Amino acid sequence: SITLQGLHKRFGRDAVALDGVDLTIEAGEFFTLLGPSGCGKTTLLRILAGLEEADEGQLNIGGKDVIDVPPHHRSVNTVFQSYALFPHLSVRENLAFGLKMRGMPAAQREQKVAEIAQFIKLGDLVDRRIDQLSGGQRQRIALARALVCEPDVLLLDEPLSALDAGLRSQLQVELLRVQKRLGMTFVFVTHDQDEAMVMSDRIAVLNGGKIQQVGAPREVYERPSNAFVARFMGHDN
Ligand code: ATP
Repeated sequence: SITLQGLHKRFGRDAVALDGVDLTIEAGEFFTLLGPSGCGKTTLLRILAGLEEADEGQLNIGGKDVIDVPPHHRSVNTVFQSYALFPHLSVRENLAFGLKMRGMPAAQREQKVAEIAQFIKLGDLVDRRIDQLSGGQRQRIALARALVCEPDVLLLDEPLSALDAGLRSQLQVELLRVQKRLGMTFVFVTHDQDEAMVMSDRIAVLNGGKIQQVGAPREVYERPSNAFVARFMGHDN
């Protein structure tokens, strides 16, 4: 599981991004951070990844205090919205890159890449260059690249928000399938209530750097704990 205690983060003097966040995310959960723009979702995710330092607070992942542990020594991997694939390299080379960095021998790399390509059903995309792919295809490759290293926890920052509605719901199904099949912990960031409702085991609603409510989708929707959550979950519309 992942435990966060008393996390605070500010940028400069005025911008309070996280204002005392306490949270436990269970292993194997599809957990969503939901809230409006600027509420601190990305900051929270970046602290989990080790890409941002908290000013205060504790972070424990899988029984280990990791607040001072660098990103590549945490058992987490990240799929960002503006993912950094190498455009001039093939899908295969992109997928193998992280494995190579970890010193995995070529034969084993090839096997891992073949496995993940089959799992995500990449078909003949594996031999195309990234710059020959559509946005949706690239997003699937970004997911495959994060999965190929087999992290315990996958962090996803609005991975579907740039896609059109059809492709988006298709990839929602695919993400859920992958997560359930592999039994991984997903921490998923979105500002879209509907997406959070269909995908999540549990949702944390954030506003102003504070958690407003944590619960199963129905619970948050049917029994919002305050006016903000009620409004954000669409009770006024
Ligand atoms: P969005 O949905 O728009 O991405 P978010 O919920 O992910 O928003 P964060 O990106 O975590 O929100 O930002 C939280 C607050 O911290 C905002 O007020 C933002 O302006 C501020 N902030 C985030 N990163 C920085 C930074 N590098 N420098 C200064 N302020 C920052």
